[in-house]
Amino acid sequence: MTNLDIASPAPPAAIPPQDLEALRQTLRGAACMPREAGYDEARTIWNAMIDRRPGLVVRCEGAADVICALEVARRHGLVLAVRGGGHNIAGSAVCDGGLQIDLSPMRWVRVDRENRIAHVGPGATLGDVDRETQAFGLAVPTGINSTTGIAGLTLGGGFGWLTRKYGMTIDNLISADVVLSDGRLVRASESENPDLFWALRGGGGNFGVVTNFEFRLHPVGPQVLSGLVVHPFEDARDILTRYQHLLDEAPDELTCWAVMRQAPPLPFLPEEWHGRKVLILAMIWTGDMEEGEKATAALRGLGTPIVDVVSPHPFVGWQAAFDPLLAPGARNYWKTHDFAQLDAALIDTLIEAVGRLPGPECEVFLAHVGGAMSRVAPDATAYPQRQAHFVMNVHTRWREPSEDSACIGWARDLFQAVAPHALGSAYVNFMPEDEAGRIREAYGPNYRRLAEIKRAYDPDNLFRTNQNIAPA
Ligand SMILES: Cc1cc2nc3c(=O)[nH]c(=O)nc-3n(C[C@H](O)[C@H](O)[C@H](O)COP(=O)(O)OP(=O)(O)OC[C@H]3O[C@@H](n4cnc5c(N)ncnc54)[C@H](O)[C@@H]3O)c2cc1C
Repeated sequence: MTNLDIASPAPPAAIPPQDLEALRQTLRGAACMPREAGYDEARTIWNAMIDRRPGLVVRCEGAADVICALEVARRHGLVLAVRGGGHNIAGSAVCDGGLQIDLSPMRWVRVDRENRIAHVGPGATLGDVDRETQAFGLAVPTGINSTTGIAGLTLGGGFGWLTRKYGMTIDNLISADVVLSDGRLVRASESENPDLFWALRGGGGNFGVVTNFEFRLHPVGPQVLSGLVVHPFEDARDILTRYQHLLDEAPDELTCWAVMRQAPPLPFLPEEWHGRKVLILAMIWTGDMEEGEKATAALRGLGTPIVDVVSPHPFVGWQAAFDPLLAPGARNYWKTHDFAQLDAALIDTLIEAVGRLPGPECEVFLAHVGGAMSRVAPDATAYPQRQAHFVMNVHTRWREPSEDSACIGWARDLFQAVAPHALGSAYVNFMPEDEAGRIREAYGPNYRRLAEIKRAYDPDNLFRTNQNIAPA
């Protein structure tokens, strides 16, 4: 089943035929109307809960196409959505009616090996970036699923396996080329339009369309010590309590996420465990391999695991290790909180909720962050929450619409139950579409400056199909 229903009526034409023809003559890419080639591909996104039909899709090949598409949207007063990799849980990459800018054709990754810099197009996936940079033993910190788009991930902040060692994705952004709401192409960096550069690093797609990212690269791999240690869920309380104490002392090279779910049928798991609840510790050591064996020993020594498959793996492979569990096409709903620590009451509440998991693909994960990420001042970038040690994502995932209310209800209940233990901030890239009222809270003290920069760069809120920051 896909989220497409070919029996549904097409949305009304976004622009008159003569304007469409003129646009087609101008573009290097393609303008796609409903039912034309490319239209369904562009509007179909990762989360199958989202089924929207733009009036027109412009599949851009470069900044000039973006400028044309924005001009059309402005002239006709169209609702606008911007798509990078199409992974955002809230479905902000696609709108009903109006115009969708699809950047997925802009997928270049050009590595300057000498200077350890990469130029990346806004349609590139994390896998594209890893593939090209790892050819030279280099990497930029991104996320943990290789099909995620680099654009949306970067603009919201971006964290993953390299964050504790080398910072967030935004901490490694050197510059961005941006087409503004009035059609001007500008460069944002520490020295050019620094206010815009500040806002882009966490403020999402509110300020313009980024047509090129320039990243700083670091030497990584190509082999890294990484893998999973899987425990019976019955031991979760004890393991999580000791896990957090060990992580309090962890060096930046060590990152270990905790995942609670039913065991998928992974080939290295004994068959009798498939479908039973487990606690998975997913870890990486980004330094010297021998040191890593010593540094991970205490974590790997916790309890009596069912299996321990931590060993040297190619970094590119580890970056894609979770892809099979995160493939597009399922219905998904997320809830997120930031935590400074996992206190006993929080662990108990999580364990009680996982005891009532609504489905075999649902999970709660605790992303282990901090390290280099926490050494950046909260007001140095728009992303404000530098003191979190764990970012929780309640990842509810199922197949049938009839299960919507049970799954969404479970996630909301868990979210409420653990709220007293949370820091109050939230990662905008993990927020579903019903959380528009949480944006101020998400940005905390940085919201005011974001709203002022929004007024300067997008006073009419053309870029509003997103986690929206209203112009001050
Ligand atoms: C399976 C999965 C795993 C994930 N894992 C992680 C993780 O490990 N770490 C992490 O930090 N995040 C993670 N995320 C969250 C991810 O960062 C967000 O979903 C992000 O929005 C994805 O970017 P995208 O380009 O694919 O999304 P899209 O849905 O295409 O874009 C999201 C929004 O970003 C804006 N946008 C996109 N491109 C541009 C552009 N070029 N210019 C201006 N605005 C733009 C638009 O407002 C757009 O609506 C994960 C998401 C999924 C689905």
